[in-house]
Amino acid sequence: MMSKAIVIGSGFGGLALAIRLQAAGIPTLILEQRDKPGGRAYVYQDQGFTFDAGPTVITDPSAIEELFTLAGKRLDDYVELMPVTPFYRLCWESGKVFDYDNDQAHLEEQIGQFNPADVEGYRRFLDYSQAVFKEGYLKLGTVPFLSFRDMVRAGPQLARLQAWRSVYSMVAKFVEDDHLRQAFSFHSLLVGGNPFATSSIYTLIHALEREWGVWFPRGGTGALVQGMVKLFKDLGGEIEFNAEVTQLEAEGNTLKAVKLADGRRIDASAVASNADVVHTYEKLLGHHPVGAKRSTSLKRKRMSNSLFVLYFGLDHHHEQLAHHTVCFGPRYKELIDDIFNSDALAEDFSLYLHAPCVTDPSLAPPGCGSYYVLAPVPHLGTADLDWEVEGPRLRERIFDYLEAHYMPGLRDQLVTHRMFTPFDFRDQLGAHQGSAFSIEPILTQSAWFRPHNRDSRIANLYLVGAGTHPGAGVPGVIGSAKATAGLMVEQLSP
Ligand SMILES: Cc1cc2nc3c(=O)[nH]c(=O)nc-3n(C[C@H](O)[C@H](O)[C@H](O)COP(=O)(O)OP(=O)(O)OC[C@H]3O[C@@H](n4cnc5c(N)ncnc54)[C@H](O)[C@@H]3O)c2cc1C
Repeated sequence: MMSKAIVIGSGFGGLALAIRLQAAGIPTLILEQRDKPGGRAYVYQDQGFTFDAGPTVITDPSAIEELFTLAGKRLDDYVELMPVTPFYRLCWESGKVFDYDNDQAHLEEQIGQFNPADVEGYRRFLDYSQAVFKEGYLKLGTVPFLSFRDMVRAGPQLARLQAWRSVYSMVAKFVEDDHLRQAFSFHSLLVGGNPFATSSIYTLIHALEREWGVWFPRGGTGALVQGMVKLFKDLGGEIEFNAEVTQLEAEGNTLKAVKLADGRRIDASAVASNADVVHTYEKLLGHHPVGAKRSTSLKRKRMSNSLFVLYFGLDHHHEQLAHHTVCFGPRYKELIDDIFNSDALAEDFSLYLHAPCVTDPSLAPPGCGSYYVLAPVPHLGTADLDWEVEGPRLRERIFDYLEAHYMPGLRDQLVTHRMFTPFDFRDQLGAHQGSAFSIEPILTQSAWFRPHNRDSRIANLYLVGAGTHPGAGVPGVIGSAKATAGLMVEQLSP
């Protein structure tokens, strides 16, 4: 009998890959170290409140739908995706507000209020963003970059699209108003990219959102994770929780089995790691020359920032809020520079506030609201902070700020709260330096320069998820699963 393909980790990338393998007739086992699936999309439940731990802005539903259709099933039978409008509400301390949605006339009217000249500039920016989306996402987002030749082939398009420029410099070419420059450049932060350093290719996120909209699963992102787990099991796939892989066992340059913390050893025909890439090569394969070499070179790469996330339940529903709010602080470029390069925590912050009960009240008891707020912060390699001390301090500063600017009465309404700090990214998810999005998506760490979907030396070791091509974000890791699955099916098909 053919031994199993093993997927280590049940993040969106791991689940999407496992579904593809199982649907192709390859018996697949997912081993997840935590007690629940989802990885960064874990779910906390407390006193009737449901908190999605991570992704909340669900884009490119077509990539999710494809997983169900290739398995001969219908997405709608597993989970309901609801449209979210506005996509985001962007707020500044000056009181200015921009409701970013998919209605061109409404967008242009608001842009005109910031700066009439920018309406025309925005149209040209949208054209540019759509061109990048076609090249960077539709054509290259799901193909593995295994050889440098693949990179050279993509070169002319990347050059034509001026991929060497940063997101912010490209946006600034088209729009003048400072608020609008922030409004159209912050998106790369959603996948761990510094808008001032990340390739302008990442402006494609804007076109992607305009193309397919922003969605939210009924029951929360966790309901989508559960839907994918159910699909995988319906196809005959196996998933185990509390199953931490501690070592990849190799004979020469071929993997033979995985070893688990509970002492078991499971034979594998191929292994795909959805775990952090440094963790994979250093901790799981560090005993092998290839693992030792790769982990040394990976540790020289720049990791993307970390996040401080605060989940809280209130006995009040703040109906004045939009589902997604970006609360810009007093500084933009300087703050981002601190997040990516400073060894201290900035005095100010910019926040993302999630208020899912606006779309789905079932996520909290009647009349109540579940929320989370996050602040991008430096990872532990940039700022070696003691989050046991900094966490509670930052929590108090953020609660004060939200109460003063966005959620009057918050402290009196507080029923429950919990934090997730860079220490938790490191300790609970095995994330190198506590990074929230793995390797930083700069041009010299993208495509062929990113860890490959298949290891070039160990032919039955694959990667899937944020650390491989194309990168972080739900559409990114689902795209990585397509690239990796293509290679695995080629190798493993009977
Ligand atoms: C707070 C937050 C908000 C975000 N918001 C958005 C958003 O709105 N939209 C969006 O598109 N993206 C968002 N992202 C990014 C997105 O969530 C991630 O890029 C994506 O979910 C990562 O998926 P992944 O497949 O790489 O796996 P991960 O989610 O990283 O999961 C990896 C899994 O592997 C398991 N694992 C690790 N080591 C082992 C081991 N040794 N043995 C067994 N299992 C192991 C882990 O426990 C984990 O479950 C957000 C991220 C965060 C942190």
